[in-house]
Amino acid sequence: MDNNGNKCRICLIRDMAGKEDILSYINKTRDMLTDEDRVSNLVYEERLKKCTSCDNLLSATCMKCGCYVEIRALAQNNHCPLKKRKW
Ligand code: SF4
Repeated sequence: MDNNGNKCRICLIRDMAGKEDILSYINKTRDMLTDEDRVSNLVYEERLKKCTSCDNLLSATCMKCGCYVEIRALAQNNHCPLKKRKW
């Protein structure tokens, strides 16, 4: 619960305990992408910041596309699925 009594929506996998297998998958995905296809760390963190403040995020998953945002946000060609994209 946060200070306002809201239940935690568990924003990112990296904030969860016992999810090392998924974290390993994220790292493998990052390694598989070429420098051209992968966003910079700065852009990646900016994307995740927008996701963690989005109402469509639940348990590290975007409820609009069903993706783990930490994986979707890695690739240059991936975008937020909303009509008015957040990234
Ligand atoms: S990808 Fe877009 S819609 Fe999905 S959680 Fe992130 S900001 Fe929200």
